[in-house]
Amino acid sequence: MLKLSGKVVFVTGVASDIGREIAFEFARQGANVVIADLNHAAAEIQESGGRAIGVAVDVSDEAEVDVVIQAAVRAFDRIDVLVSNAGVQIVSPIEDFRFSDWKKMLAIHLDGAFLTTRAVMKLMIANKTGGSIIYMGSVHSKESSMLKSAYVSAKHGLIELAKSVAKEGAKHNIRANVICPGFVRTPLVDKQILEQARALGISEEEVVRTVMLKETVDGEFTTAADVAQVALMFAAFPSNALIGQSMVVSHGWFMQ
Ligand code: NAD
Repeated sequence: MLKLSGKVVFVTGVASDIGREIAFEFARQGANVVIADLNHAAAEIQESGGRAIGVAVDVSDEAEVDVVIQAAVRAFDRIDVLVSNAGVQIVSPIEDFRFSDWKKMLAIHLDGAFLTTRAVMKLMIANKTGGSIIYMGSVHSKESSMLKSAYVSAKHGLIELAKSVAKEGAKHNIRANVICPGFVRTPLVDKQILEQARALGISEEEVVRTVMLKETVDGEFTTAADVAQVALMFAAFPSNALIGQSMVVSHGWFMQ
């Protein structure tokens, strides 16, 4: 594995468990971390001894993304790794799905991934540093589920975005890959348990057992730490051999 020490890692969606754990894991490996969320401070990582800055950004806003990438460059000169992780979930039957919610989902997941990618690629190409771009997909990048049409559509889109970046980025030593976690018990999932229980007319415990974890091999949630380990692996992989790929970490819910 390449050393991540001294590398600059830009992570979006860090106010919650998955992004936070990824940011901490990179900091523990000695990386400089730029943590980007709707509003955030880097105090926690700084207090634990890591080099970090926090930037406030709506990843679906073109101007804001460009501004925070410049802030990262002012702080650390370069960006070596982008982890595009910010995301939301809105569940609804298709026939009742509000168009505004559909657009919000695509904006945060796909526009956000595109805007951060474009800004970071420009920088990596200008600096001739190459780098690694990692998207937070989902098992829902591979298959569909009831009530999640917008999320599933957006998460599938990330796989093809990664392949496009891989093809265009390879000559600049820019790699792109996707992490596809199963359910991780975060506020995003807690909200879904409640919403699905209401929509399906079953208890929250039944949603977990009979919907979310039904297809796993052991009835276990994936953890943020599991996801962070895959992010490290993608970031540190030493060649273009691992490019345009998507890796599922889901306790066997989805097997490729
Ligand atoms: P979460 O809701 O707990 O956290 C999402 C983070 O994204 C929050 O910090 C939020 O502030 C931030 N965010 C939302 N909109 C934003 C915007 N417009 N600009 C900047 N930041 C924004 O979610 P999570 O469960 O930690 O999910 C993180 C990522 O992992 C998401 O992309 C999600 O789709 C993906 N994922 C989650 C699970 C899971 O089971 N929790 C499984 C597979 C994939």
